[in-house]
Amino acid sequence: MPNITVLQGGCEKVTKMRIAFLSIHSSPLGRAGEKDTGGMSTFLRGLSSALGEAGHKVDLFTRPDSAGKDLVREIKAGVRLVCPDDGLGPLSKQELYPHYRTIAESIDRFCRGDNSRYDLIFSHYWLSGCVGQVLKKNWNVPHMLMFHTLGRAKNEACPEENEPLLRLEAEKELARSCDLIITAARQEKEKILTYFDLPLEKVALIPCGINREIFKALGIHQRLRAKEQLGWEKKTKIILSVGRIEPVKGLDLLLKAASLLPAEESFQVVIAGGDKSSSIQVESYKKTAARLGLEGKVYFTGIVEHEKLPFYYNAADVTVLTSHYESFGLVALESIACGTPVVASPVGIIPELIATGNNDDFIGYMVENRNPPTWAEKISRALNSNKPLDQSVLDTRLAPYSWKQAASELITVINSL
Ligand code: UDP
Repeated sequence: MPNITVLQGGCEKVTKMRIAFLSIHSSPLGRAGEKDTGGMSTFLRGLSSALGEAGHKVDLFTRPDSAGKDLVREIKAGVRLVCPDDGLGPLSKQELYPHYRTIAESIDRFCRGDNSRYDLIFSHYWLSGCVGQVLKKNWNVPHMLMFHTLGRAKNEACPEENEPLLRLEAEKELARSCDLIITAARQEKEKILTYFDLPLEKVALIPCGINREIFKALGIHQRLRAKEQLGWEKKTKIILSVGRIEPVKGLDLLLKAASLLPAEESFQVVIAGGDKSSSIQVESYKKTAARLGLEGKVYFTGIVEHEKLPFYYNAADVTVLTSHYESFGLVALESIACGTPVVASPVGIIPELIATGNNDDFIGYMVENRNPPTWAEKISRALNSNKPLDQSVLDTRLAPYSWKQAASELITVINSL
């Protein structure tokens, strides 16, 4: 790709960047809600589109679905999805690590053939980080890394998670060797600084964005209609959970809390997300729900297409986020943008987003403990709060979260490298 320099406002020279994004284990175009595809894909699509709109060039590298030939597709202005053939065929996330050099070689080979050069590598998740370090040496350009989740944080937060030592060690080494780490929440930045004993300037904080053209609050009548169209009665209160089905999401707490809601409350727990690979976990949650006396009150939708999710958020009366750990927690932003309050654990962005104890700018509750009665009480209060949330409050609270802003902050950070 050619290096472009344009004149802005007639005088200031702004160099347009050429950035190689690496997303090796999960395609940015994959279905969010599947086992290995979630907030990171939403992030990659949102940020790359905004960079493309600002005139920068982004190539999103991921693995092809099958071996055969290189695949290149322009997905937005200035943004290409590039899948160099690495000859390895389909591999699960767990099988990828031993092949990271081969994958790096396939990207290198593609770029030589395509005559593509980059100012910077931006890797996503530790596996991409390993590939990025090889390319950094080959291309002699800076390497920026976003972990998305940290193995150590996952293991510490959730006893059922067991991220291997290999990952923990690789993350430690990557944190040391990459040029800059990007995080999207203050809490995550603090974790990275502490875990890896890094100087402050090694970690930059750039909040995620949200697509407010899709995620927006409907009027009260449309919200009720959304509820009916999804098959629920207007008077049934909808308690929504959205995300991949993983132990770290802590859904057992949601079920326990729902079982303690006042008997007179007519409600339905709706859990969106999870593909076939989650079926064993889903069956286990269904058994737990039955044991807790929630027969007929818990519904697993499977994956909901990202573009249809605003309809679910609007139909819902509260979105509950029970995660033990999130590096960001996009779901909370999406729900609030749709005018639906959240009840959430103090993970990712939540402590920054949800102020406690102020009724005037209510957007939800943060619950510090994992005590089901406390959660039941907050869910019950949110269910009976006035909704949709106040539009001007939403606009103020969500103002810092825009992809355009994130893209611009990223470029500033890159220029400082
Ligand atoms: N998501 C979706 N459909 C689903 C479940 C989830 O589109 O059925 C999306 C959701 O809108 C959000 C992302 O997946 O953008 C989940 O992001 P989050 O940061 O909450 O969690 P993560 O997947 O990163 O753990």
